[in-house]
Amino acid sequence: MSDRTTVLVLGGGVGGVVAARTLRKMLPERHRVVIVDRERDHLFAPSLLWLMTGKRTPKQISRPLDRLARRVIEVIGGEISHIDPDTRRVRVSEHAHGDDPLSRRLGGVTRDWEADHLIVSLGVDLAPKTIPGLAEAGHNFYTLAGAETLRRALADFNGGRIVVLTATPAYKCPAAPYEAAMLLLDHCRRRGIGDSTKVDLYAAEPGPMGVTGPEVSSQVRRMVEDQAIAFHPEHQVTEVDTSAKTVAFSNGATASFDLLAFVPPHRAPQVIRDAGMVDDSGWVPVDRHTLETRFPAVYAIGDVTGIPLAMGKPLPKAGVFAERQAKVVAHNIVLAITGKGEPASFDGYGECFIETGAGKAGFGAGDFYAEPTPQITLHRPSRRWHLGKLLFEKNWFRRWL
Ligand SMILES: Cc1cc2nc3c(=O)[nH]c(=O)nc-3n(C[C@H](O)[C@H](O)[C@H](O)COP(=O)(O)OP(=O)(O)OC[C@H]3O[C@@H](n4cnc5c(N)ncnc54)[C@H](O)[C@@H]3O)c2cc1C
Repeated sequence: MSDRTTVLVLGGGVGGVVAARTLRKMLPERHRVVIVDRERDHLFAPSLLWLMTGKRTPKQISRPLDRLARRVIEVIGGEISHIDPDTRRVRVSEHAHGDDPLSRRLGGVTRDWEADHLIVSLGVDLAPKTIPGLAEAGHNFYTLAGAETLRRALADFNGGRIVVLTATPAYKCPAAPYEAAMLLLDHCRRRGIGDSTKVDLYAAEPGPMGVTGPEVSSQVRRMVEDQAIAFHPEHQVTEVDTSAKTVAFSNGATASFDLLAFVPPHRAPQVIRDAGMVDDSGWVPVDRHTLETRFPAVYAIGDVTGIPLAMGKPLPKAGVFAERQAKVVAHNIVLAITGKGEPASFDGYGECFIETGAGKAGFGAGDFYAEPTPQITLHRPSRRWHLGKLLFEKNWFRRWL
């Protein structure tokens, strides 16, 4: 047991922040906890859906990562350009510091870090450009910039056809595009343009939230269709014509739109692929309970991982899993460093709110590791679950940043 160890956390999103804060609470101060992210701010992504309809500002849904410094966590702003998982060496091109004239003139430095324990929580790379025309024609509401352009376009929208589409069958937060369709329509109704607005949801997947089983999937489909949203499953977008404002699908169908909102294709971050950490699934394989990778003292958590389930599909990518996995990994690293505590295990439990508009939300929860299929219960939309989501958002920043 070394006297002073360094735990390096890659990524200041959900998994990274929870891991760093949990480690810091439990580890004696002489041990270093370092977190690296290219972004200055931590973004609470679930609230992007409220930002796009004008219910939130960027400031309300993000916090500077620098705040973690008050908790004796070292915060490094920069691009992670190389990871050697065998030696746990990581190269970071640090951003120039705005208030340091020398740093501004020379640009940031590139530094190599060596970790005793490495936690990888780098999420996904979004790749809208892999579908011709998609990025130019539509709004990628999975990013802050895209949710903001959608909010602006929505303000100028005076009725017509809104198309929401998923560009691949698997993406993070499987409820989000369904919520987006319902919230967009709700927004138009509140503006008095509901009668002249039609919302169509084109999904690459066969149905909503397929991992949760046919019953929950059809319940979510009903939530969408009850709102008079037309649902078109198994429509894989191949191309978008920006000037004609039409979407082409692999089955030969086409759809015209006045406003296009989309979930882009996802893939593991380039730096992770270059590090040879992914398998044939395209994601980082881990022990499903400890989140250990095949490299000693290297853990991967959250969206970057690929965890196969008995039913044949992978564990969905969602913040709730990243958070719970981060706590497990932090506990086990503390145990390895200090010898204190009990081994922790990730149990596959997950839950999520499904915003349906009109101040209501549904709520699904259950055991995703259950075999042969996940055991999920979905509660009907009500005001109570919507209030639950508001509370969750408020507590997120209070608890972690
Ligand atoms: C619109 C929307 C709604 C959502 N709603 C929900 C919800 O209601 N419930 C839920 O559970 N989940 C939800 N999610 C999903 C949730 O946000 C993600 O699953 C979660 O953020 C994953 O955490 P993570 O730590 O794996 O990755 P992230 O939170 O994405 O963090 C990854 C971090 O790594 C950084 N990074 C990546 N590459 C590099 C690099 N090379 N150098 C430096 N930094 C890098 C990124 O800047 C980022 O900060 C939603 C997502 C979206 C987009």
